[in-house]
Amino acid sequence: MPINNSRLVTYSPAYTIVPTYECFNRCSYCNFRSEPGKSPWMSISDAVNILKPLQSQNVCEILILSGEVHPHSPRRQGWFGRIYDLCELAFSMGFLPHTNAGPLSFEEMQKLKRVNVSMGLMLEQLTPTLLNSVHRHAPSKLPDVRLQQLQWAGELQIPFTTGLLLGIGETVNDWWETLEAISNLHQCYHHIQEVILQPHSPGHQQTFDAPPFNPHKLPEVIAKARQILPSDITIQIPPNLVKDDCWLLACIEAGARDLGGIGPKDEVNPDYPHVQEQALREILQPAGWELVSRLPVYPQFDSWLSGELQTAVKHWRKTLTPVSLLSEYGSRDFPIS
Ligand code: SF4
Repeated sequence: MPINNSRLVTYSPAYTIVPTYECFNRCSYCNFRSEPGKSPWMSISDAVNILKPLQSQNVCEILILSGEVHPHSPRRQGWFGRIYDLCELAFSMGFLPHTNAGPLSFEEMQKLKRVNVSMGLMLEQLTPTLLNSVHRHAPSKLPDVRLQQLQWAGELQIPFTTGLLLGIGETVNDWWETLEAISNLHQCYHHIQEVILQPHSPGHQQTFDAPPFNPHKLPEVIAKARQILPSDITIQIPPNLVKDDCWLLACIEAGARDLGGIGPKDEVNPDYPHVQEQALREILQPAGWELVSRLPVYPQFDSWLSGELQTAVKHWRKTLTPVSLLSEYGSRDFPIS
């Protein structure tokens, strides 16, 4: 039966490993971090034990998600080395790594490109006003530092995922400005594969005292984002943060087409368990949407990868069906059957 490509919603079968929870920033909405020195770094042997059973579970993406060691710390090199080694290990065990470890130096990004099929960093919000509130103690959240990461990713031809965190004290205009900045950079480098629209969802650890982002507003933001962003950027929403099925469907109708990495735990929002594949299918199918798995790299970027990474990606495109159909067309602008 032909697949109606305009009714596809994608997700990535993923597992998140955390090299360390320690982070020198203190974003007041954070539900992830530990104090520097208080979170032992994941050892290679622990990672092997975690990854081994996943080899038979159709997990494709390993998201390497880390708290940050200060760029000037004497421990930075060891921290970066551990992240690199974990990526290399995941790749050697047959997975496709995607790293999000905060702002990196140009050289660090260049090195990680060798062992990642894509990378990510949330832009969150560009407005500097947040430096007086939620980001008062978070030097990594300087808007210029994050914009520069996106630019370097473009220069290095790293397929990139970024996004906005909604409801942390910004204004409506701030959303559009942040989206326009992403759009402008993409028009220079054509490297952004996804933009995540993540609603602030309070958790047990945070000190930021604010209500969750109103999920009823999300479809409106998505529709406007769809107008601002170039059509080859996919809009992603985290389904565990849009609890109501009707609003999840409204988000998709408004233009979201990806549900991100689905694994056992959302490390960033540990109070909100991931909705698993079958449950998502049961929400989507009656409304005529088909959920399909995808890789952490979109087909139009395959040629940016090293030969070794390309070979692995090619293998996965054959394994994960029917998303392998995507490779025939290179993007979502495929013919509607
Ligand atoms: S949100 Fe990220 S950068 Fe901020 S404190 Fe938490 S782990 Fe660190």
